[in-house]
Amino acid sequence: MSTPTSWMLRLLVFTGLLSGVWMAGSWLGISRTQRWPGRGDRIRVLATLFPLYDFARNVGGDAVEVRSLLPPGADPHEFALAPRDVQLAAGADLLVANGLGLDEFLARAVGLAGGSRAPLVEAAAGLPTLAVHDDHRHGEAGHAHGGGDPHLWLDPLLARRMVSRIARAIAAEAGARWGEELARGVRLRSVAYGEALQALHEEFRRELAPARGRPFIAFHGAYAYLARRYGLNVAAVWQTTPGREPSPREVGRLLETARRLRVTALFSEPRFSTRALEMIASDARLPVFTLDPIETAEHYESGSYLGAMRRNLAVLRQALAGPAP
Ligand SMILES: [Zn+2]
Repeated sequence: MSTPTSWMLRLLVFTGLLSGVWMAGSWLGISRTQRWPGRGDRIRVLATLFPLYDFARNVGGDAVEVRSLLPPGADPHEFALAPRDVQLAAGADLLVANGLGLDEFLARAVGLAGGSRAPLVEAAAGLPTLAVHDDHRHGEAGHAHGGGDPHLWLDPLLARRMVSRIARAIAAEAGARWGEELARGVRLRSVAYGEALQALHEEFRRELAPARGRPFIAFHGAYAYLARRYGLNVAAVWQTTPGREPSPREVGRLLETARRLRVTALFSEPRFSTRALEMIASDARLPVFTLDPIETAEHYESGSYLGAMRRNLAVLRQALAGPAP
Protein backbone atom coordinates (compact mmCIF):
# COMPACT_ATOMS: atom_id res chain seq x y z
CA MET A 1 0.00 0.00 0.00
CA SER A 2 1.27 3.37 -0.91
CA THR A 3 1.00 6.16 1.60
CA PRO A 4 1.78 9.75 0.66
CA THR A 5 4.98 9.40 2.69
CA SER A 6 6.24 6.39 0.75
CA TRP A 7 5.46 8.19 -2.54
CA MET A 8 7.37 11.16 -1.32
CA LEU A 9 10.27 8.90 -0.39
CA ARG A 10 10.24 7.19 -3.78
CA LEU A 11 10.17 10.52 -5.52
CA LEU A 12 13.10 11.71 -3.47
CA VAL A 13 15.10 8.55 -4.18
CA PHE A 14 14.26 8.81 -7.88
CA THR A 15 15.26 12.46 -8.22
CA GLY A 16 18.33 11.70 -6.11
CA LEU A 17 19.31 8.96 -8.58
CA LEU A 18 18.67 11.27 -11.52
CA SER A 19 20.81 14.02 -10.11
CA GLY A 20 23.50 11.41 -9.34
CA VAL A 21 23.45 10.37 -13.02
CA TRP A 22 23.54 13.98 -14.10
CA MET A 23 26.47 14.71 -11.79
CA ALA A 24 28.40 11.70 -13.07
CA GLY A 25 27.78 12.92 -16.62
CA SER A 26 29.00 16.41 -15.95
CA TRP A 27 31.90 15.03 -13.97
CA LEU A 28 33.01 12.92 -16.94
CA GLY A 29 32.57 15.92 -19.20
CA ILE A 30 34.87 17.97 -17.02
CA SER A 31 37.53 15.31 -16.62
CA ARG A 32 37.60 14.62 -20.36
CA THR A 33 38.34 18.21 -21.27
CA GLN A 34 40.60 18.82 -18.29
CA ARG A 35 42.83 15.78 -18.61
CA TRP A 36 46.42 16.21 -19.84
CA PRO A 37 47.07 15.15 -23.43
CA GLY A 38 49.71 12.47 -23.98
CA ARG A 39 53.29 13.41 -23.15
CA GLY A 40 54.43 15.23 -26.24
CA ASP A 41 56.46 18.21 -27.08
CA ARG A 42 54.67 20.72 -24.91
CA ILE A 43 55.32 21.84 -21.35
CA ARG A 44 52.35 20.94 -19.17
CA VAL A 45 51.59 24.08 -17.15
CA LEU A 46 49.08 23.86 -14.31
CA ALA A 47 47.76 27.26 -13.19
CA THR A 48 45.35 27.92 -10.33
CA LEU A 49 43.26 30.96 -11.33
CA PHE A 50 42.00 32.16 -14.71
CA PRO A 51 44.34 35.20 -15.08
CA LEU A 52 47.39 33.00 -14.47
CA TYR A 53 46.06 30.44 -16.95
CA ASP A 54 45.60 33.19 -19.54
CA PHE A 55 49.04 34.75 -18.89
CA ALA A 56 50.73 31.33 -19.22
CA ARG A 57 49.05 30.47 -22.52
CA ASN A 58 49.75 33.93 -23.98
CA VAL A 59 53.48 33.87 -23.25
CA GLY A 60 53.85 30.10 -23.63
CA GLY A 61 52.23 29.91 -27.08
CA ASP A 62 52.79 26.54 -28.74
CA ALA A 63 55.47 25.59 -26.19
CA VAL A 64 52.82 24.94 -23.54
CA GLU A 65 49.66 23.01 -22.75
CA VAL A 66 47.91 24.94 -19.97
CA ARG A 67 45.26 23.69 -17.55
CA SER A 68 43.56 25.45 -14.67
CA LEU A 69 42.70 23.93 -11.32
CA LEU A 70 39.71 26.22 -10.83
CA PRO A 71 36.99 25.11 -13.27
CA PRO A 72 34.91 27.84 -14.97
CA GLY A 73 32.71 29.65 -12.49
CA ALA A 74 34.35 28.19 -9.36
CA ASP A 75 35.13 30.51 -6.49
CA PRO A 76 38.72 30.36 -5.18
CA HIS A 77 37.43 31.45 -1.77
CA GLU A 78 35.41 28.27 -1.35
CA PHE A 79 37.08 25.75 -3.60
CA ALA A 80 37.17 22.05 -2.72
CA LEU A 81 39.54 19.68 -4.56
CA ALA A 82 38.24 16.84 -6.74
CA PRO A 83 40.14 13.70 -7.86
CA ARG A 84 40.82 15.22 -11.30
CA ASP A 85 42.77 18.04 -9.61
CA VAL A 86 45.13 15.51 -8.07
CA GLN A 87 45.64 13.92 -11.52
CA LEU A 88 46.38 17.34 -13.01
CA ALA A 89 48.89 18.10 -10.24
CA ALA A 90 50.58 14.72 -10.70
CA GLY A 91 51.09 15.26 -14.45
CA ALA A 92 52.22 18.91 -14.45
CA ASP A 93 55.71 20.05 -15.54
CA LEU A 94 55.33 23.56 -14.16
CA LEU A 95 53.03 24.88 -11.43
CA VAL A 96 51.80 28.49 -11.57
CA ALA A 97 50.12 29.93 -8.48
CA ASN A 98 49.26 33.41 -7.27
CA GLY A 99 50.49 32.91 -3.70
CA LEU A 100 49.53 35.03 -0.66
CA GLY A 101 47.15 32.35 0.59
CA LEU A 102 44.61 32.63 -2.24
CA ASP A 103 45.37 29.31 -3.91
CA GLU A 104 46.77 26.99 -1.28
CA PHE A 105 44.54 24.30 -2.78
CA LEU A 106 47.37 23.77 -5.29
CA ALA A 107 49.75 22.70 -2.51
CA ARG A 108 47.04 20.35 -1.20
CA ALA A 109 46.55 18.83 -4.68
CA VAL A 110 50.32 18.32 -5.00
CA GLY A 111 50.43 16.75 -1.55
CA LEU A 112 47.61 14.34 -2.43
CA ALA A 113 49.45 13.48 -5.66
CA GLY A 114 52.41 12.35 -3.55
CA GLY A 115 54.54 15.44 -4.27
CA SER A 116 55.84 16.95 -7.50
CA ARG A 117 59.24 17.75 -8.96
CA ALA A 118 57.72 20.47 -11.15
CA PRO A 119 59.03 23.98 -10.40
CA LEU A 120 56.51 26.29 -8.69
CA VAL A 121 56.10 29.97 -9.66
CA GLU A 122 54.20 32.10 -7.17
CA ALA A 123 53.48 35.05 -9.45
CA ALA A 124 52.40 37.55 -6.77
CA ALA A 125 54.61 36.45 -3.90
CA GLY A 126 57.34 38.94 -3.07
CA LEU A 127 55.73 41.84 -4.99
CA PRO A 128 54.80 44.87 -2.84
CA THR A 129 51.41 44.05 -1.36
CA LEU A 130 48.68 45.97 0.42
CA ALA A 131 47.42 44.80 3.79
CA VAL A 132 44.04 43.07 4.00
CA HIS A 133 41.92 45.57 5.88
CA ASP A 134 38.76 43.66 6.68
CA ASP A 135 38.39 40.02 7.64
CA HIS A 136 38.52 39.03 3.96
CA ARG A 137 39.70 35.45 4.06
CA HIS A 138 40.69 33.01 1.39
CA GLY A 139 40.86 29.25 1.34
CA GLU A 140 39.18 27.27 4.05
CA ALA A 141 36.59 29.06 6.13
CA GLY A 142 38.05 30.67 9.22
CA HIS A 143 41.61 30.06 8.08
CA ALA A 144 43.26 33.46 7.81
CA HIS A 145 46.41 33.84 5.76
CA GLY A 146 49.19 36.35 6.09
CA GLY A 147 51.14 38.02 3.31
CA GLY A 148 48.71 40.71 2.20
CA ASP A 149 45.89 41.25 -0.27
CA PRO A 150 46.25 38.63 -3.06
CA HIS A 151 44.28 40.42 -5.86
CA LEU A 152 47.34 41.96 -7.59
CA TRP A 153 46.29 41.00 -11.14
CA LEU A 154 43.56 43.67 -11.15
CA ASP A 155 46.30 46.30 -11.52
CA PRO A 156 47.60 45.96 -15.13
CA LEU A 157 51.11 47.06 -14.15
CA LEU A 158 51.36 44.49 -11.36
CA ALA A 159 49.89 41.95 -13.79
CA ARG A 160 52.78 42.81 -16.10
CA ARG A 161 55.28 41.89 -13.38
CA MET A 162 53.42 38.64 -12.73
CA VAL A 163 53.53 37.87 -16.45
CA SER A 164 57.29 38.31 -16.67
CA ARG A 165 57.81 35.94 -13.72
CA ILE A 166 55.62 33.30 -15.38
CA ALA A 167 57.40 33.84 -18.71
CA ARG A 168 60.84 33.43 -17.10
CA ALA A 169 59.80 30.08 -15.63
CA ILE A 170 58.32 28.84 -18.94
CA ALA A 171 61.38 30.07 -20.88
CA ALA A 172 63.69 28.22 -18.46
CA GLU A 173 61.72 24.98 -18.97
CA ALA A 174 61.62 25.45 -22.75
CA GLY A 175 65.33 26.25 -22.88
CA ALA A 176 66.25 23.20 -20.80
CA ARG A 177 64.17 20.89 -23.00
CA TRP A 178 64.59 22.19 -26.51
CA GLY A 179 67.28 24.85 -26.46
CA GLU A 180 67.59 28.59 -26.71
CA GLU A 181 65.44 29.09 -29.84
CA LEU A 182 62.17 28.07 -28.14
CA ALA A 183 63.05 29.98 -24.96
CA ARG A 184 63.55 33.07 -27.15
CA GLY A 185 60.03 32.65 -28.56
CA VAL A 186 58.61 32.69 -25.01
CA ARG A 187 60.58 35.83 -24.15
CA LEU A 188 59.39 37.61 -27.31
CA ARG A 189 55.76 36.77 -26.56
CA SER A 190 56.28 37.97 -22.99
CA VAL A 191 57.53 41.36 -24.27
CA ALA A 192 54.54 41.65 -26.64
CA TYR A 193 52.03 40.72 -23.91
CA GLY A 194 53.76 43.12 -21.49
CA GLU A 195 53.24 45.89 -24.05
CA ALA A 196 49.55 44.97 -24.33
CA LEU A 197 49.28 45.31 -20.54
CA GLN A 198 51.03 48.67 -20.66
CA ALA A 199 48.50 49.82 -23.31
CA LEU A 200 45.67 48.57 -21.08
CA HIS A 201 47.11 50.61 -18.21
CA GLU A 202 47.22 53.76 -20.38
CA GLU A 203 43.55 53.23 -21.32
CA PHE A 204 42.53 52.85 -17.68
CA ARG A 205 44.52 55.94 -16.68
CA ARG A 206 43.09 58.09 -19.46
CA GLU A 207 39.49 56.94 -19.27
CA LEU A 208 39.15 56.80 -15.49
CA ALA A 209 40.62 60.26 -14.86
CA PRO A 210 37.09 61.72 -14.35
CA ALA A 211 36.27 58.86 -11.90
CA ARG A 212 39.04 59.78 -9.44
CA GLY A 213 37.81 59.99 -5.86
CA ARG A 214 34.20 59.10 -6.72
CA PRO A 215 33.11 56.77 -3.86
CA PHE A 216 31.49 53.39 -4.57
CA ILE A 217 30.67 50.13 -2.79
CA ALA A 218 32.41 47.00 -4.09
CA PHE A 219 31.04 43.46 -3.78
CA HIS A 220 34.13 41.92 -2.15
CA GLY A 221 37.54 43.24 -1.15
CA ALA A 222 39.28 42.59 -4.48
CA TYR A 223 39.82 46.09 -5.88
CA ALA A 224 42.39 47.77 -3.63
CA TYR A 225 45.26 47.57 -6.19
CA LEU A 226 43.06 48.77 -9.03
CA ALA A 227 41.75 51.61 -6.85
CA ARG A 228 45.24 52.63 -5.74
CA ARG A 229 46.56 52.73 -9.31
CA TYR A 230 43.74 54.89 -10.72
CA GLY A 231 42.70 56.94 -7.69
CA LEU A 232 39.35 55.15 -7.30
CA ASN A 233 37.56 55.35 -3.97
CA VAL A 234 36.26 52.06 -2.52
CA ALA A 235 34.09 53.50 0.26
CA ALA A 236 32.96 50.09 1.58
CA VAL A 237 32.73 46.39 0.73
CA TRP A 238 29.46 44.38 0.61
CA GLN A 239 30.85 40.93 1.54
CA THR A 240 33.73 41.48 3.95
CA THR A 241 34.02 37.69 4.16
CA PRO A 242 33.60 36.17 0.66
CA GLY A 243 30.49 34.01 0.44
CA ARG A 244 28.84 35.53 3.54
CA GLU A 245 26.08 38.09 3.07
CA PRO A 246 26.26 41.10 5.41
CA SER A 247 24.15 41.06 8.57
CA PRO A 248 21.29 43.60 8.89
CA ARG A 249 23.57 45.60 11.17
CA GLU A 250 26.36 45.63 8.57
CA VAL A 251 23.86 46.62 5.87
CA GLY A 252 22.75 49.50 8.08
CA ARG A 253 26.36 50.62 8.41
CA LEU A 254 26.90 50.33 4.62
CA LEU A 255 23.86 52.49 3.94
CA GLU A 256 25.05 55.03 6.50
CA THR A 257 28.45 55.14 4.74
CA ALA A 258 26.74 55.42 1.36
CA ARG A 259 24.74 58.44 2.53
CA ARG A 260 27.60 60.13 4.35
CA LEU A 261 30.08 59.78 1.50
CA ARG A 262 27.50 60.33 -1.26
CA VAL A 263 28.19 56.97 -2.86
CA THR A 264 26.72 56.87 -6.37
CA ALA A 265 27.14 53.21 -7.37
CA LEU A 266 27.13 49.67 -6.02
CA PHE A 267 29.02 46.88 -7.77
CA SER A 268 27.95 43.26 -7.79
CA GLU A 269 30.02 40.45 -9.32
CA PRO A 270 29.17 37.85 -11.93
CA ARG A 271 28.48 34.32 -10.62
CA PHE A 272 27.05 35.53 -7.31
CA SER A 273 23.46 35.95 -6.26
CA THR A 274 22.95 39.67 -5.93
CA ARG A 275 19.32 39.69 -4.82
CA ALA A 276 20.05 41.11 -1.36
CA LEU A 277 22.37 43.75 -2.81
CA GLU A 278 19.80 44.75 -5.42
CA MET A 279 17.03 45.09 -2.83
CA ILE A 280 19.15 47.39 -0.71
CA ALA A 281 20.28 49.34 -3.79
CA SER A 282 16.71 49.89 -4.91
CA ASP A 283 15.75 51.09 -1.38
CA ALA A 284 18.68 53.50 -1.40
CA ARG A 285 18.02 54.42 -5.06
CA LEU A 286 21.54 53.48 -6.08
CA PRO A 287 22.35 51.87 -9.43
CA VAL A 288 24.00 48.41 -9.46
CA PHE A 289 26.75 47.56 -11.95
CA THR A 290 28.68 44.31 -12.41
CA LEU A 291 32.44 44.30 -11.92
CA ASP A 292 34.46 41.14 -12.55
CA PRO A 293 37.32 40.33 -10.13
CA ILE A 294 38.57 37.83 -12.78
CA GLU A 295 39.26 35.17 -10.18
CA THR A 296 37.77 32.76 -12.68
CA ALA A 297 35.99 32.95 -16.06
CA GLU A 298 32.86 31.49 -17.64
CA HIS A 299 34.72 30.27 -20.72
CA TYR A 300 38.39 29.52 -20.40
CA GLU A 301 39.03 28.90 -24.11
CA SER A 302 37.37 32.04 -25.47
CA GLY A 303 37.76 34.29 -22.43
CA SER A 304 40.70 36.59 -21.87
CA TYR A 305 42.12 38.70 -19.08
CA LEU A 306 42.46 41.68 -21.45
CA GLY A 307 38.82 41.35 -22.57
CA ALA A 308 37.52 41.07 -19.00
CA MET A 309 39.58 44.10 -17.93
CA ARG A 310 38.24 46.18 -20.84
CA ARG A 311 34.69 45.22 -19.88
CA ASN A 312 35.50 46.34 -16.31
CA LEU A 313 36.86 49.61 -17.66
CA ALA A 314 33.66 50.26 -19.64
CA VAL A 315 31.54 49.53 -16.53
CA LEU A 316 33.66 51.76 -14.29
CA ARG A 317 33.43 54.58 -16.81
CA GLN A 318 29.69 54.24 -17.09
CA ALA A 319 29.25 54.07 -13.30
CA LEU A 320 31.77 56.64 -12.12
CA ALA A 321 33.08 58.83 -14.90
CA GLY A 322 29.85 60.57 -15.90
CA PRO A 323 28.78 63.98 -14.60
CA ALA A 324 28.53 64.04 -10.77
CA PRO A 325 24.93 63.70 -9.53
ZN1 LIG B 1 38.92 37.53 -3.81
